[in-house]
Amino acid sequence: MSKILLKSALIEATRGKSVRRDILIAGGRFQKIAATISAEEAGDCEVVDSSNFAVLPAFYNGHTHAAMTLLRGYADDMELSRWLNEYIWPMEAKLRPADIRIASRLAVLEMIKSGTVFFADMYWHHDETLKVVEEMGVRATIGLSMADLLQPPEEIEKSFAFLVAHTGESERVKLAVMPHAVYTVSEALLKRCFAVAKAENYLVHTHLSETRQEVENCQKQYGCTPPQLLARLGGLNDKLIAAHCVHFTPEDRRIFAAAGATAITNPCSNLKLASGMPQINELLAAGIRVGIGTDGASSNNSLDMHDDMKLAALIAKVSGSAETLPAREALEMATVRVAEAYGLNAGVIAEGKLADCLLIDLSAESMVPCYDLVSNWVYAADSRCIDSVICNGKFIMRGRHVDGEEDIRCEAAACAARLVQTP
Ligand SMILES: [Zn+2]
Repeated sequence: MSKILLKSALIEATRGKSVRRDILIAGGRFQKIAATISAEEAGDCEVVDSSNFAVLPAFYNGHTHAAMTLLRGYADDMELSRWLNEYIWPMEAKLRPADIRIASRLAVLEMIKSGTVFFADMYWHHDETLKVVEEMGVRATIGLSMADLLQPPEEIEKSFAFLVAHTGESERVKLAVMPHAVYTVSEALLKRCFAVAKAENYLVHTHLSETRQEVENCQKQYGCTPPQLLARLGGLNDKLIAAHCVHFTPEDRRIFAAAGATAITNPCSNLKLASGMPQINELLAAGIRVGIGTDGASSNNSLDMHDDMKLAALIAKVSGSAETLPAREALEMATVRVAEAYGLNAGVIAEGKLADCLLIDLSAESMVPCYDLVSNWVYAADSRCIDSVICNGKFIMRGRHVDGEEDIRCEAAACAARLVQTP
């Protein structure tokens, strides 16, 4: 059965005034939202009593490294450069394609259970992650990761061939060009990435100005900041989606906003690695579109967008005022802002939009009382209040159960145990 009729779902509650609607999902979209939709009008469909649910947009994770979920908790409590050089990169060198598949399944499971239906992924062996996305029913923009200071040249050529052929793109999967960062990608390769993205109409996603050291080294090597380097090489435009953007100068923010580029803030990761305080309020004040990402589970250490959404709202207030980044805008940064940046007509519950949503359990303690639905969701609740997740018009979690979840957890635990014993 491809149609779903959600009956009497709460879609708004503000100061005691609540709005309930029937929502008809068909053809992967919200086809009709009205006070009443009869079963006859809906046609052959599954009717779901949603009187105990609020329907809210699902999360769109603007920056992660899904397969790094296998390295969760492997190295903590140290700054980025030592964390990468001494722990993460040596461990990653042991990962085989089969391990990436296991790790990606664990990541997608964690994302679904915490309400995420889309992620932008920057990692190696992208074809394994791509298959997992197709199988598990979510959406993704899968990166062809480029880092010539870490990768052999033949791998880079393979990635460009993949991009030029648009291999694996589908209704739910898109590709993107993802040069890792200005400190792992040469000037020549950055230029080539931007040229291929332009020719093949791809988005470009990269880490940018994550740490003070990155900015200082860029100044030493190139005589400018990382965003200024991208501008010089032809990569600062409205196709650029940059993760972190923690150490922008006022001039960086000005040129980034003027170019129409998108910033993805990763507050948990930035704070945990002590990379710096995310400039959320400053980026927004400069007129930049800002979305939220979790970063990888080895630096966050979870893929739960709810945590990053709440933290982003709190951080923005510290550098602004209590009125800065109200709950609704924080929710938009975790949903529609990311969807827009990655070219998805999604992230809001409205007719014609892609049918991605969460059914939130209104009987959960943190949802009671419900003066304001969005306030409860952003500030009080957490992802345990999510009963079900719909992506592309289909249930991918129902009653908090995801098909095959026990196997995914066992497989990942066994794989991690094997990896630590491998010299
Ligand atoms: Zn990252």
